[in-house]
Amino acid sequence: MDVRAAPMRHARRRGARRSLAIRLAAVGCIGVPALAVAASAETPATPPPFETCRADLAAWGVAHEVPARVADAQLAGLMPDPEVLAATGSQGEFVRPIWDYIEASVTPARIEAGQRALAAHADTLAAIEAAYGVDRHVLVAFWGVESSYGAVLDNPAVVKPVVRSLATLSCGDPARAGYWRDELTAALGILARNEAPLDRMPGGLTGSWAGAMGHTQFMPTVYRQYAVDFDGDGRRDIWTSVPDALASTANYLRAHGWRPGEAWGTEASLPEGFDAALADETTARSFAAWRALGVKPARDRAAPDDTAEATLILPAGIRGPAFLLRPNFAVILRYNTALAYALTVAHLSDRLSGDPGFARDWPRGDRPLTADERRDIQTRLAERGFAPGGVDGKIGPRTRSALRAFQGSIGLPADGYADTAVLERIRAAP
Ligand code: CA
Repeated sequence: MDVRAAPMRHARRRGARRSLAIRLAAVGCIGVPALAVAASAETPATPPPFETCRADLAAWGVAHEVPARVADAQLAGLMPDPEVLAATGSQGEFVRPIWDYIEASVTPARIEAGQRALAAHADTLAAIEAAYGVDRHVLVAFWGVESSYGAVLDNPAVVKPVVRSLATLSCGDPARAGYWRDELTAALGILARNEAPLDRMPGGLTGSWAGAMGHTQFMPTVYRQYAVDFDGDGRRDIWTSVPDALASTANYLRAHGWRPGEAWGTEASLPEGFDAALADETTARSFAAWRALGVKPARDRAAPDDTAEATLILPAGIRGPAFLLRPNFAVILRYNTALAYALTVAHLSDRLSGDPGFARDWPRGDRPLTADERRDIQTRLAERGFAPGGVDGKIGPRTRSALRAFQGSIGLPADGYADTAVLERIRAAP
């Protein structure tokens, strides 16, 4: 999606989100292909003709976990899907404001549908909580964000054959060819082991254009490692079994450090005149230490015990909501490394629990910066000795840190937020 969420685990996958988000938005799901991330960084080269590449992929698969009969049946005669390649190339000129992203995902309809899902699957969710220690509201929030509680999985407008998509990407996206090849191999392995209930899947093994599958959008390698058979029918079925899909997500989160019984964090209220530089995204302080600084949970929500630690973030600057993040928030980020994504899941989980929503509004009057403007900020930060971590038009942690230093140097609130006001100030700065 155009927050450039780097999907799940591993690394950043430029461009892989926007089109899916648009496609899914059209049917009411703005989920992103969870667990999809390119870890490898091969040297880009001119891709070989598809037929040659396809034969190489079959040979690679057979050399690994795929029977030749499966590789032949799945790959012979397969042609690339131009829509999939187009999706990898899309780059947003504008970064969508974080509140747009959250509000497009956490709608009244999605909250209501999530509450119905909580009721309909209460026994299953209780059993998953008991087995994995992951809160049911968090699991249902992932489900809602990833697939609108499964509603999009049968929609031919948004799902595609996984093998064709991954073969297309393996051969047409040379910068991440190894990543896609490994995902393709894992997908062929799923077919070889007959793990997907194809008799109940009219479209065959389908997924997002990037190959993310099932109710909570697992990539094939993530499926291989973390999917579980929770309903006990002998099959790890994340496509048509809600218990299997949600337990697989719980298993993934627990394996990545989920702490049972802990919240993801909370919106925070800040005192007048708060020093925004303290919201540096990285410094963990106890709730007692935050309280001493005037920072406490918003709406007088209960705080955890005084020794519990949290970091403070201001995702839209000092004029927007603040959040105290506890360690489980970092686990949500393992599903998808975009802050907007993780806050969306966290917020939806709160809303499903009956929380009324953010106490403080977002700075909605701002227009988003263009890519050129974001690069301009980075260039000027670098020229002034505030290392922004490169000039790539992406406002990441290093750019925000550099911005805080610049803002502090001229007496502005050091919130690290890149908006038109800070752009004007840095352009005017000597
Ligand atoms: Ca099962």
